[in-house]
Amino acid sequence: MKTIFRKKAVESHQWWNTAQSILQLGTLTGLLSLLGWLLAGTLGIAFATGTVLFTLWFLPRLSPAILMRWHQGRLLRTEELPWLHQIQKDLANRAGFVRSPALYYVPSSALNAFAVGNRQEGGIAVTDGLLRTLSYREVRAVLAHEMTHLQHNDVSVMLLSSIVGRLIQWLAWSGIALILFSLPLSWLYEKPVPWLWLLLMIVAPWLSLLLQAGLSRTREFQADLGAVRLTDDPQALIQALAKIDSGSSAPVHPSETTLLQSHPATSERIARLASISQTVLEPRDFLWWNFNRPSYLSWTNRRYRWQ
Ligand SMILES: [Zn+2]
Repeated sequence: MKTIFRKKAVESHQWWNTAQSILQLGTLTGLLSLLGWLLAGTLGIAFATGTVLFTLWFLPRLSPAILMRWHQGRLLRTEELPWLHQIQKDLANRAGFVRSPALYYVPSSALNAFAVGNRQEGGIAVTDGLLRTLSYREVRAVLAHEMTHLQHNDVSVMLLSSIVGRLIQWLAWSGIALILFSLPLSWLYEKPVPWLWLLLMIVAPWLSLLLQAGLSRTREFQADLGAVRLTDDPQALIQALAKIDSGSSAPVHPSETTLLQSHPATSERIARLASISQTVLEPRDFLWWNFNRPSYLSWTNRRYRWQ
């Protein structure tokens, strides 16, 4: 018995996720431009688009090595964990990377993995806790998830979205302060108070938070789908997610609001993965010895050192 993924379902999910991400990032940039225009006219729009373009140019130039040092990660030499490097190399080949992303080790008991950089120059870090807890297949699924983040330049996308979000908040608060301070003048000279603008300034930071959270969730789902495509093993990712969730110090409760959550709930991710998976019977499932063989005779039950 084997769990495979339904290719058509994955492709339609991926298409929808990409469209959603473009819409979310576009709306965030539009919101920033609108606030800029309200506060400073065309100069405000130039400032907003200029910031987005500069960030897009600057982010890929950040060195993964420096970012990893900031996260207390150290480079893993090939001779330290050859099997992990082999997985990394194999996945990078499958994903069409010219250069395999560097592997980093973070001496933390938390179950975590993350990526920095981009497709051209990237790094993937795994914690000590993750390597000790997950099986070979599960580690492979997690690495594939991070590899997909690099493949889609998600690190830059998420950083850009958080910078735009900060700017929106800053402009909105400046706008609110400006309108409130000019209220006495408006009343003195009997000028109309821009209530609609004030309302927009109040709503904008909330809207931006919703869009940022939505974008992050979409990128996570997209990375899950990418991992399944790279590994052809949805079950391994499902098991890894369940283990990471149960080992996490801050579990996500189902009652928690999912709209403002930047990371989708594990149960939701697992449900999505299950929806694109399918269990198929292999020829060996029909062989008589498969039903009767004692477990000690089975070479398929052997456990690896890191399991
Ligand atoms: Zn992720």
